[in-house]
Amino acid sequence: MYNLSEITVSKAPLVTELNDLLKDKNTVALVDENVAKIYAGLFKDVWNKIILIRAGEGAKSLVYTEIVIQQLLELNIDRSSNLIAVGGGVTCDLTGFIASTIFRGINFSFIPTTLLAQVDAAIGGKNGVNFNGYKNVIGTLQHPDLIHININFLNTLSDIEFTSGMAEVIKHACIHSFGYFEFLKRNAAEIKEKNPEILLEMVRQSVEIKAQIVAKDPKEIGGRKILNYGHTYGHAIETHLNIPHGFAVSMGIIVANELAEKQTALSEKEQLEIKNLLRQFGLPTDLSSLEFNALKNKISKDKKRIQSKIDFILLEEIGSPKIKAIDLCDLP
Ligand code: ADP
Ligand code: ZN
Repeated sequence: MYNLSEITVSKAPLVTELNDLLKDKNTVALVDENVAKIYAGLFKDVWNKIILIRAGEGAKSLVYTEIVIQQLLELNIDRSSNLIAVGGGVTCDLTGFIASTIFRGINFSFIPTTLLAQVDAAIGGKNGVNFNGYKNVIGTLQHPDLIHININFLNTLSDIEFTSGMAEVIKHACIHSFGYFEFLKRNAAEIKEKNPEILLEMVRQSVEIKAQIVAKDPKEIGGRKILNYGHTYGHAIETHLNIPHGFAVSMGIIVANELAEKQTALSEKEQLEIKNLLRQFGLPTDLSSLEFNALKNKISKDKKRIQSKIDFILLEEIGSPKIKAIDLCDLP
């Protein structure tokens, strides 16, 4: 039986919220180095129980995992200790991986601080590091006890990181709820201005959608696949163009929608609606710079195995996704 996480989403002042969590004597916090700098005040009473995590994807490696484990052992952690990640997807992935393997697994919680981590990476129990150029190939499926989301962290996030996270938010609307899609359209200006009420509502809805999809398929056997909407091409575009995850997913969504026109009869009108919403948030939708042959080559190779058919998540309409195996020769 899988225990899913208890998730809270709030906009309460950070200091009051985090103090109790961090002060527990058995807790060690793994904090993204930039977050630690920006929010130094939050950690002033617990500096001796903090390990700084290097910013950037490079921290998700076995070598870096060993360095952090060494630091944890120097802090004398034991089986009853509790790890808390405070940072984006990188910090959460690494913390979850270490906590679920050290001493065969200890308790852990997440305080995600980027939009992408709050609505996506922190939820779902996937923890892992990269290996030999392959993303997340070494990891565990283990849900943190608590995921504590506070939207105040988003105020200091760079525009690029915020925009990148919006691609996952729009993805949630596309695969799950026309009503949520309309909410995003209606409130685009307030979201961009980070109006706290609207932002809270948005993060709550996205978290609920992701948590619901995960709860129905905790071991990732099937249903969860719909979260891959925009990601088949998205992942290939991300490594090929070396752009932020959400920017690549945005372009991946456009590719999937163009495929869906023929495969699942997604209307031109709805394709345009999705494109406009992505654009409104500053996400790229123009595919003219893409080298489709190179991308096709990349996505046909799944961990070195050549495939002739690839599963795509295609929309029939906004809010209603379908998993379809598409022949390579039908790809652009
Ligand atoms: P993701 O959550 O997209 O996987 P990362 O964990 O790589 O991203 O974090 C992206 C960047 O944002 C990193 O440079 C990290 O230090 C920084 N960061 C994380 N949270 C915040 C925040 N609340 N304010 C400012 N910068 C942040
Ligand atoms: Zn994603």
